[in-house]
Amino acid sequence: MMSDTRAEIFEELEPEPRLLMGPGPVDVYPRVLRAMSVPLQGQFDPQFTGYMTQTMALYRQVFRTGNPWTFMIDGSARAGIEAALASLIVPGDKVLVLVFGRFGHLLAEIARRSRADVVLLETEWGTIVDPQRVAEAVKRERPKLVATCQGDTSTTVLQPLADIGRICRENDALLYVDCTASLAGNPFETDAWCIDVASAGLQKCLSGPPGIAPITIGPRAEEVITARKHYEAGIKPADAVDGNGPIIQSNYFDLGMLMDYWGPRRLNHHTEAASMLYAARECARVVLGEGLDKGIARHRTSSAALRAGLTAMGLELFGDAENRMANVTGVTIPRAIRDPDAVRSQMLEDFGIEIGTSFGPLHGKIWRIGTMGYVCRKQNVLRCLASLEQVLRRNGLTVPAGAGVDAAADAYAAAAKA
Ligand SMILES: *Cc1c(COP(=O)(O)O)cnc(C)c1O
Repeated sequence: MMSDTRAEIFEELEPEPRLLMGPGPVDVYPRVLRAMSVPLQGQFDPQFTGYMTQTMALYRQVFRTGNPWTFMIDGSARAGIEAALASLIVPGDKVLVLVFGRFGHLLAEIARRSRADVVLLETEWGTIVDPQRVAEAVKRERPKLVATCQGDTSTTVLQPLADIGRICRENDALLYVDCTASLAGNPFETDAWCIDVASAGLQKCLSGPPGIAPITIGPRAEEVITARKHYEAGIKPADAVDGNGPIIQSNYFDLGMLMDYWGPRRLNHHTEAASMLYAARECARVVLGEGLDKGIARHRTSSAALRAGLTAMGLELFGDAENRMANVTGVTIPRAIRDPDAVRSQMLEDFGIEIGTSFGPLHGKIWRIGTMGYVCRKQNVLRCLASLEQVLRRNGLTVPAGAGVDAAADAYAAAAKA
């Protein structure tokens, strides 16, 4: 039995420094870490509500939208997914989900929990869903909502979206996109692509901590949400207000209540996660300060250099070459490697670099290497290639000495000249 006097208080936190080159989370921008340590305020302090309003304005720019309803859901990226789906789906609604990897299945699961009638449009992992198939399925199934990811880190593939929003508009369906994995590292156009709701997280290309989910809600989705009943927290807690439609089951994820909280009414809902709000605000300031397009180009250059290096080492890249995300690279695990997990743990233990494993049908078949946000820079790509060469050789693979680093350095030099 442990007595009070001997209860352990453990040591002060002192995590080993790591270079996070997996599919996320990734290293956080130092400016964002600093923003998280400034004094906290209450969510009705006028200065703090000012920061909330600024954060909304910043994420309109990140999402490239004019949507007034652009704000934060407190929780990891799936909190944004859950808020969107729980607030849009009335039990019995038909929802078409594009599945090209693990996160498509997550969307389907959350839609089913909201008691939607879910229809899957699946494709082999590593490929995209052909927009023509989406058009046919939307015409055949007549869903109220189409849900998809843009980038699915599980397969490293980027679904083209430009046509899908138009298909949805023409057929009177809403479009929800989870752009967690891709936002700020790949082009994303909420308004130009006719996306009704999109949500994300900070821990990928925005290079912040996991724990808050930016979301944007367009006018067609707003109409669906406000047509449903919700409570006015703190005012008429027992009374459902507004629309006649069925009440949104969740309190935490009720976008109607969250609009009352973030909007001019400022009705109390939850206690805003102040440090996370600061983090989200600073992530957007870093990304917009660099320039969204410049940041996207930086992701493109680094992934091209990494891929040139991996290819020069004799490794094969995974997934549809035409539709790869610019921030995570899938590498086929060579047959000569008996123990793929030993490679990852040696990368971590001997070189301090985390790279990713994979799930489901790709388990044991690919590693995933991320180049996102703060991590996405030449020094890290070269360090990763040099370390990987060493580890692969120790695990029995013949790798041409220095070829990976040389090819990547050449790719960076060529990009600098172009
Ligand atoms: C990484 C990722 C997430 C992360 O979700 P969390 O709830 O923050 O773990 C969500 N969606 C996609 C497509 C991702 O790649």
